[in-house]
Amino acid sequence: MTEGPQNKPRSLGRKTIRPTLKPRELVTPTPDLHGVWKARVITLFPNSFPGVLGESLTGKALQNGLWQLETVDLRDFGDGRHRNVDDTPAGGGAGMVLRPDVLGSAIEAAQSNASGRWPLIYLSPRGKPMTQGLMQRLARSDGVTLICGRFEGIDERVLAHYDIEEVSLGDFVLTGGEIAAQALIDATVRLIPGVLGNEESTQEESFSSGLLEHPQYTRPAEWKGHRIPDVLMSGHHGEIAKWRRAMSENLTRERRPDLWAKYRNDQNKD
Ligand code: SAH
Repeated sequence: MTEGPQNKPRSLGRKTIRPTLKPRELVTPTPDLHGVWKARVITLFPNSFPGVLGESLTGKALQNGLWQLETVDLRDFGDGRHRNVDDTPAGGGAGMVLRPDVLGSAIEAAQSNASGRWPLIYLSPRGKPMTQGLMQRLARSDGVTLICGRFEGIDERVLAHYDIEEVSLGDFVLTGGEIAAQALIDATVRLIPGVLGNEESTQEESFSSGLLEHPQYTRPAEWKGHRIPDVLMSGHHGEIAKWRRAMSENLTRERRPDLWAKYRNDQNKD
């Protein structure tokens, strides 16, 4: 099912994913597309990909070769007959830790044909928070390798040895890095030209300008007694732009004083 053509050697543990209407059944290795942004994910649960990334715009773009997704099954690098990947924490304590030797082999296999700008990221609650700025930087790179932890996490030495960036989905603890990896990939892929089919929307949305987005409305003009604000129905583009700007600023000031302070600071610099 997932084997490549007989005459093509398959690299250890790597599967390239291209979604189809039957997500996993029809997953087949695809050739590397030169110059196409690629997410390579080291995980104990390759079946959780493409997951939600196989749907809608990111899924269509994956199918159309605008980006590529490859999983590296950590289990394939496991030790011995049982393909062991974890061990108890040094110093004692609950849970298990992913072994540095096993993870190291998986990382080296994943990075062996990563060329150009290709960050190596560990999804981790200790990491710096994901931001639109990070996604913009990743979208400009050639690809990214993501390490999904499980259990208590990974051996600290791996992080220093491979100079790995730690990135967090937020201040809470997940059972594994896969959901965080999918969030990061989704937010990055939608910035790749052609994926949204509407480039303007990524320039105007929340965070791109340093502000939260203004409220959005659509027909019907009146719903359960609530009307769309008159200005949006007026057809005056200048007034509409002014209203949207004011709403964005108010929302940001009220909800995100941190973003508001940064925005004001950046404006004063210009
Ligand atoms: N003991 C660790 C948590 C381990 S959770 C600690 O307290 O820091 C298991 C795995 O889930 C982690 O290795 C990481 O890859 C992933 N994970 C958990 N929370 C996350 C978050 N907020 N953002 C990104 N990845 C997370």
